[in-house]
Amino acid sequence: MVSYQNTIKRPAPDFIIIGAGIVGLWTAYYAAKAGASVVLIDKGRLGSGASNGILGALMPHQPINWNDKKQYQFEGLTSLPDEITMLEANTGIECGYRRCGRIMPIAHAEKRRQSADWSTGATKNWSGDYVWQVKDDNPRTDWMSSVGEHGYNVEDLAARTNPRALVSALVASLVQFSNVELLEGTQVQQLGGDGTISLPGGQSLVAGKTIVTAGYGSFPLLEGLAAKKLGWGVKGQAALLRPLQSFDPASPIIYDNGTYVIAHDNGHIAIGSTSEREFSQPNSTDAQLDVLIERARQICPVLEGASVVERWADVRPRATGRDPMIGTLPGHPDAIVATGGFKITFAIAHLMARDALAASSGEAVQIPDSFRIEAHL
Ligand SMILES: Cc1cc2nc3c(=O)[nH]c(=O)nc-3n(C[C@H](O)[C@H](O)[C@H](O)COP(=O)(O)OP(=O)(O)OC[C@H]3O[C@@H](n4cnc5c(N)ncnc54)[C@H](O)[C@@H]3O)c2cc1C
Repeated sequence: MVSYQNTIKRPAPDFIIIGAGIVGLWTAYYAAKAGASVVLIDKGRLGSGASNGILGALMPHQPINWNDKKQYQFEGLTSLPDEITMLEANTGIECGYRRCGRIMPIAHAEKRRQSADWSTGATKNWSGDYVWQVKDDNPRTDWMSSVGEHGYNVEDLAARTNPRALVSALVASLVQFSNVELLEGTQVQQLGGDGTISLPGGQSLVAGKTIVTAGYGSFPLLEGLAAKKLGWGVKGQAALLRPLQSFDPASPIIYDNGTYVIAHDNGHIAIGSTSEREFSQPNSTDAQLDVLIERARQICPVLEGASVVERWADVRPRATGRDPMIGTLPGHPDAIVATGGFKITFAIAHLMARDALAASSGEAVQIPDSFRIEAHL
């Protein structure tokens, strides 16, 4: 286990980063690497929120009606492997990254007609050696039941990582910097317009810039300044299974009608996810997960008799407008936000971090218009 200290050095740091999920960890990492002094604060353990997950799907958008949002996701997917390689080299922690691709059974004739467009769209819009194919027959009968009545979409851009390993590698990297303070178990109570933050016990801190990366906990912090609800949490449940028989860990992600089945290198297969706007228990699982597990067993024969080793739930940050929210709060030049990645954050968190830091230095940030704070206000 990585060790770190619960102390804040003086003078005031260049950055206070609130929330040590995947977005806050990448932000702290890049800021520290650039030589800035950083205090990274979390109300719980570092990386213990939604980023402490088990699925780790890194999925492209459909490659038609191409726009800057799809391009951003594409750049996230294609630049992430190098960033992970660098972290692995720094820390010796393997992050379970693999460009495994994805199979999607086609259930309807109309979907089959669209599939040809997706294949053409991939050729046109995915620069590089990525391919989207439409097949009549199940290409992986060893891994997936032949449930595609109208064929199978198969693409090789999708990837997966082990979320917990990636988070651990980032924490281990941060520990190596002498210019980073890691503060756990400290809930930020309020965000001031000048970037000042209030902590429990009446303590307050100020930094050159404050960056809010608190997942769905960002929204209540921001509402005081924005005077508007900027987003909410959407709960998800997932499970990890250990099959009785061996399986190929390089098997493609199965995505069928909202169900993901993802092979991991550690002998587990992850299954996800529910999507719940209304919930009272953020971390509990229930019968909705049982339905998902049963569905996964039907589409992935390797799961027959597999034992459930973990049931897991947490809450994704969903900004208004669904897209992530990145940039400086209007009227508050020292307060920056990067959150709201919702279901795709792991593929783009490093880009969100890069762009939040660019915004903090007053640079004109090249992000999709729908990601700008103004689009959410
Ligand atoms: C079941 C499930 C499956 C998922 N599957 C995938 C997937 O396959 N691929 C993918 O890309 N994404 C997936 N996601 C979504 C992804 O996990 C999240 O979008 C992502 O982890 C959000 O990262 P974050 O850093 O914004 O937030 P978090 O990881 O939630 O981090 C925010 C941190 O801020 C801290 N915090 C909150 N408020 C405060 C405060 N006031 N003061 C101090 N600290 C605070 C929290 O303790 C937390 O550690 C899934 C989510 C769920 C629930």
